[in-house]
Amino acid sequence: MNSLFAGLPTTIFEVMSSLAREKQAINLGQGFPDDPGPEDVRRMAAEAVLNGYNQYPSMMGLPELREAIAAHYKRFQGLDLHPATEVMVTSGATEALAGAIFATIEPGDEVVLFQPTYDAYLPLVERAGGVPRFVNLKPPYWTFTEEDLAAAFSPRTRAVLFNNPLNPCGIVYPREQLELLARFCVKSGAIAICDEVWEHVVFDGRRHVSMMEIPQMRERTIKIGSAGKIFSLTGWKVGLVAAAPDILRVIAKSHQFLTFTTPPNLQVAVAYGLGKEDAYFAQMRAGFQRSRDRFCDGLRTLGFPVLPSEGTYFVNIDIAPLGESDDVAFCKRLVEDFGVAAIPVSAFYAKDPVKTVVRFCFAKKDSTLDAGLERLATAARKTNI
Ligand code: PMP
Ligand code: GLN
Repeated sequence: MNSLFAGLPTTIFEVMSSLAREKQAINLGQGFPDDPGPEDVRRMAAEAVLNGYNQYPSMMGLPELREAIAAHYKRFQGLDLHPATEVMVTSGATEALAGAIFATIEPGDEVVLFQPTYDAYLPLVERAGGVPRFVNLKPPYWTFTEEDLAAAFSPRTRAVLFNNPLNPCGIVYPREQLELLARFCVKSGAIAICDEVWEHVVFDGRRHVSMMEIPQMRERTIKIGSAGKIFSLTGWKVGLVAAAPDILRVIAKSHQFLTFTTPPNLQVAVAYGLGKEDAYFAQMRAGFQRSRDRFCDGLRTLGFPVLPSEGTYFVNIDIAPLGESDDVAFCKRLVEDFGVAAIPVSAFYAKDPVKTVVRFCFAKKDSTLDAGLERLATAARKTNI
């Protein structure tokens, strides 16, 4: 068997969710809301299954969805994307990432990755023959400097994988960080594969800045999005790629033999959803922000040191001040002894891990968050957590 995949552990999300099921724990690990999601969008999908077209759609995606994607990014990010040549629909952002990585990298090419790295990136880069060059980010703000980038980029850099807003850190990078990274991309001729799936889930009045908005990056950015995150329907796995025509054409070649296409009924519903009024997106954000505040206040009251959460469904705690030095052992204890599943952030490092940060998903009903906090209170009382 292929040694890379044979040697990989099962993804931490699956491991923790299985443990949560087994222990009947409250699952604040894997990132998914426990709300059913917008009813009108779901009805649209149901309607399309019953009365719509259920055969293979175009491999590039339904024209109406590609047009809706272009219009959506014009409205929210000021981008001018040509729906026919610069937008493609994929089966989730994960497939978009695989397609983009396989289409971009030749064996031996260097690829800059930021640690903590969303778990799909490194195996896909290595399977493509890419050589990872890591930039290590540090809490609480997980920023990078010119020196960090100078040490990672070289004349052999082919691509950088950049996730903003950043999972698992919950950080939304300001424009200056994007401009700094852009300078290195332009200088080295690298393509920026930008995972922007959390673009709508940003808090406290922040606005997500797409790498495509940065001067000189329009033609060298592969922008990746996910309807799962835009509509809080993570199981849908409808993703998208936007890129200049010469780049997108090659990604389409890779996509045609990964999944070829994506269920048309879900595409119809996503096309409808992307056109929803601004208030829908503002309310969605406000709802998650409220949940963040409720959960973070609870954590603070229990004495857990809370790191900033500027976007995504996640907040991290720093367990070092609690005298803990092993996030994996901490999370194991939490789920097995106290019935709360969380994610150890060291799982997102290939080397030199930060081992004292633990991620919680707060995209849950108040009752779920409160029950989680109650169990965490028991944990805090019973041990030196
Ligand atoms: N990238 C990041 C940073 C994510 O957090 C996720 C899922 N949470 C994905 C990609 C995958 O998205 P999808 O489910 O659309 O494949
Ligand atoms: N991206 C989700 C998270 O961060 C999980 C996705 C998955 O399970 N593959 O929790």
